[in-house]
This record gives sequence, structure tokens and C-alpha cells, in this order.
Amino acid sequence: MNRQLTIAGGGLAGLSLGIALRLRGVQVRIIEAASYPRHRVCGEFISGIAETELDALGIRDLFACAKLHTTTSWFDGERPMLSRVLPAPAYGLSRYFLDAALAERFTKLGGELHCGKRFEGDGEGVAWAVGRMKTESKWIGLKAHFDNLALDADLEIHLNDGGYIGLTRVENDRVNVCGLFRNRGDMSGGNALIAATRDAGLARLAQRLSDAQLVEGSLKGVSHFCLGWQRERDDGRLRIGDTAAMIPPFTGNGMTMAFQSALAATEPLVRWGAGVLEWEEASAEIRLAHRRLFARRLGWARLLQSLLLHRIGRKLSAMLLSLGVVRFETLYRKVR
Ligand SMILES: Cc1cc2nc3c(=O)[nH]c(=O)nc-3n(C[C@H](O)[C@H](O)[C@H](O)COP(=O)(O)OP(=O)(O)OC[C@H]3O[C@@H](n4cnc5c(N)ncnc54)[C@H](O)[C@@H]3O)c2cc1C
Repeated sequence: MNRQLTIAGGGLAGLSLGIALRLRGVQVRIIEAASYPRHRVCGEFISGIAETELDALGIRDLFACAKLHTTTSWFDGERPMLSRVLPAPAYGLSRYFLDAALAERFTKLGGELHCGKRFEGDGEGVAWAVGRMKTESKWIGLKAHFDNLALDADLEIHLNDGGYIGLTRVENDRVNVCGLFRNRGDMSGGNALIAATRDAGLARLAQRLSDAQLVEGSLKGVSHFCLGWQRERDDGRLRIGDTAAMIPPFTGNGMTMAFQSALAATEPLVRWGAGVLEWEEASAEIRLAHRRLFARRLGWARLLQSLLLHRIGRKLSAMLLSLGVVRFETLYRKVR
């Protein structure tokens, strides 16, 4: 038996699953609503993924041009809070490059890719990788690339009561600036990211962005999403990537979770493709693997995000870290 899998959504989760399955001989088609290349709202800081995992997905070589990041500086607003060497190097790679490179790899391996088409359908043999579930939300995410912007460390994070902004370099030396802000309705327009940064009380950072050069076409925004496990309606759908769970962005672990959820789905789907497992059995195995992989880090990320978004929480965290009561490295690992 050789069954064909349909993947709804060709983002990181859908494409990496498609590639891993093609490498193992499974027939796959991906239906993607948009096209490649394109900028996406994402901090583009990839941490916590092992080279062995990228190898198993068949995509490690695509990271050859990524920036390798080793240092980070965190700020309470504009006040320095901590500077550290990262417990393990992280990658800086743009979605503009990565999604297109994955799509090309998938089609080269014989995968069927249909762009510019929303998937409509359901039932057996469909993996949902359509990204965040649309829902009323207090958050808005904004991102843009900048040229001529100097950084204090490979990853700068500015925290405040209303959200946070991360700055990091990607493959072409451009700086990705990406923030999570409280949604106040009107956040559109060419300099929305700079305006939101200023409104968040980060006047000096907003000035640095104004003095740098915004890369045309790179400003993007998303709203209508919630963090954590996505509401699993009792519809029996198989979900991977953000469609299953969204980790708070300050962790820089969402892309890794997309890859890891694809990897966890690979072997059960190979067995389903060969007729060894029924759809319900493969789906249940994958859901269980996702719970085992992600439940702990999602819990920690939620707790830490709540702490970091409150002035007192930030002060307390800074104090505990400076006294050595809590180690940055320990917290960093808890959310990966
Ligand atoms: C503000 C912000 C900052 C972030 N920063 C980081 C970071 O620094 N590091 C990190 O690791 N993660 C970060 N993330 C998270 C990361 O972007 C996601 O976890 C990752 O994109 C998930 O990949 P995915 O494939 O599940 O979803 P997506 O990348 O969203 O892909 C879903 C795809 O499905 C398509 N689609 C949607 N509906 C349909 C449909 N009906 N039919 C067909 N196609 C459809 C979409 O066009 C899209 O291409 C951030 C997220 C936000 C919001």
C-alpha cells in the first residue's frame, strides 16, 4: 500500500514534514495559501534545535548560510538587565530565505506543491500545518528588516509592561526587529513598528530604528493569535507546528517547535503511508509525542512571559539572576 498524505499549509512545519516524508518514500502534496519567497512575522532567531534533528529532517545544509549567534543582552525597557553568552549557539536565518529554500527542496524531492490555494477539506490523510489558529487576541506581532543598525549583542531583547522587542542579525547581515505588542487597534502604516516601539516607552530604541534603513517590503504584522496549546476542538484533526501549539516568541523556540513537531510526526506517518498504521493510530501517536515534547517548555514559557511583562516581575528576576539564586542558563534551557 502507498497512501498519499495531504499537508495543509507550507510554512516551516508543513514543508519540513513534507521533505522528511519524501526522503522516506511517502507520497505527499502540500497546499499553500500564499507563495514564496515572502517576509513573515518572526524574530528569525532559531534556538534549541540539534544538528541531528535537522539531519533527520534532511534540511541541515540549508542552515549553512545562517548567522551563528553566541551572545545576548536583555533590557528592562532601556535599562541593561543582563548580558550573557548563550548556553548553546543559535541561528539567525530569515523566513524570506528559509521558506523558499524548503519549498524548493520539497519539490526537488518529488513533492507536489500547490501555491496560492487555501486547503478546503478534511478527514483522513490530512495534516494541518496552517499556522496560528485565528482568535480574538490582545497581541499584535510586527517585524521588519533594517540595514545599518548596530547591536549590543547577537540577540537584544527589550522588555516592558506592554510586550517585548527582539533584534538579531540574519544571513545577509540585515537586522530583524520583531516585537510583540498589546493590540491597540490602529497599528498600520509604513512606520508602524517604530511607532509601536515608541508607544511602548522605548524612545531610544525607536530613534535607533529611525536612524537605520528599513528594508522595503519587509514590514509585516499579525494579530488574532493566542499563545500556548491551540484549542483542540474534538474534530480529530492532526495538527503540527503552530496549529498545535504556539510558544511565546521571547523564547526564540517556535520555529524549532515547528521542526520538532514535524519530526515527531514523520515515523508514524511513514507507517501510515505503508498501510501499517490506521490514521487514528498514527494521529494519536503524534499527539502523545507532541505532549511529551512540548508540555513542560510551554508551561515554563507562559510563567516566564507573565513575569517578564510586569515591572515587579522583571525587577525580581533581575535581582535573583544577579544574586545567582537563579541561573540564566537554567531558565534558557527550561523553555527549549
Ligand atoms: C511576533 C512573533 C515573533 C516570533 N519570533 C520567533 C523567533 O524569533 N524564533 C522562533 O523560533 N519563532 C518565532 N516565532 C514563532 C514562529 O514564527 C512560528 O512558530 C513558526 O512560524 C511556526 O511555523 P508553522 O509552519 O507552524 O506556521 P507558519 O509558518 O505560520 O506556516 C503556516 C502556513 O500555512 C499557510 N496557510 C494558512 N491557512 C491555510 C489554508 N487554509 N490552506 C493552505 N495554506 C494555509 C500560511 O500561508 C503559511 O504559509 C515568532 C512568532 C511571532 C508571532
